[in-house]
Amino acid sequence: MMSLLRSSARTLLGAALGSLACGCMASPTPLVPSLGGSVGVPHQGVLTESLELPNGGPGFRRYRPHGTAHFGLPRLVRGLEQAALTVAQERPGEARLVIGDLSGETGGKIPRHNSHRTGRDVDLLFYMVSPEGIPVENPGFISLGPDGFVKLQDGRYLRLDIERQWLLIRTLLSDPELRVQFLFISRDLEALIIQYALAKETDLELVSRAQTVMVQPVDSLPHDDHIHMRIACAPEEAVGGCMGGGPHWSWLPPLPEADLSEEELVSLVAQTDPFPTLERSGNEPEASAEAKRSEGEVSLTSPHG
Ligand SMILES: [Zn+2]
Repeated sequence: MMSLLRSSARTLLGAALGSLACGCMASPTPLVPSLGGSVGVPHQGVLTESLELPNGGPGFRRYRPHGTAHFGLPRLVRGLEQAALTVAQERPGEARLVIGDLSGETGGKIPRHNSHRTGRDVDLLFYMVSPEGIPVENPGFISLGPDGFVKLQDGRYLRLDIERQWLLIRTLLSDPELRVQFLFISRDLEALIIQYALAKETDLELVSRAQTVMVQPVDSLPHDDHIHMRIACAPEEAVGGCMGGGPHWSWLPPLPEADLSEEELVSLVAQTDPFPTLERSGNEPEASAEAKRSEGEVSLTSPHG
């Protein structure tokens, strides 16, 4: 019975992905109403029913106003908007959160990234202040030193606005719909933020979760110029083909048993996302060294081998 269910699920998934390949990706498939959304793993997959992050809104703006990679799962986009609004309301009148790439409208491989394929990944530039503490909007993917300071080309210094950065992180982690899986960030910057949080935060469980999800990619450049956030699959998304990307932390709602193995799912989505994945789940995405040189963005590969 189980194998029958598995094979029928596989046939339906294959048929559904076939129909996705015909250009109807923005629509939910009529074949399997439960299939859709974030389908596959962050390093190989597709995205249906995506929502676009607006070019700007209360407390945020896109780093690339005319970019095409600002689509994500609706709960990711709404969670980002809500978190930026929360920070702006608690610290009004200050520089906005600058948001880099999410995913393409229908998912799959996009320039500069290995992951960011299933609407669950987003790059968040750091909140910055002048040395005197005046908020300054992040000019874009600037690498911070281990002390959180950076010298700009014009000679000015900026430093990480740790207070607002922690406010953002605690807001993201507190959002029950977002279900943060990873915050990829350099070890030094994590230490600065956690040190601040341990001194100021009353919810120590939240600090503990932050320490758990903040990870510096291994065998690649550290994330010292932005945070890459990945959200975990929700139970209803797992039914629709959402999988992997890292550990499913104990505080997240448990996922139902998947009909397909990760290998089976990846081979199916390869029909619509044919670019071979360089890394599998649990690994950080990222921009190539070439992209870094041409666009000032960081180069990364994988955190967990
Ligand atoms: Zn990223």
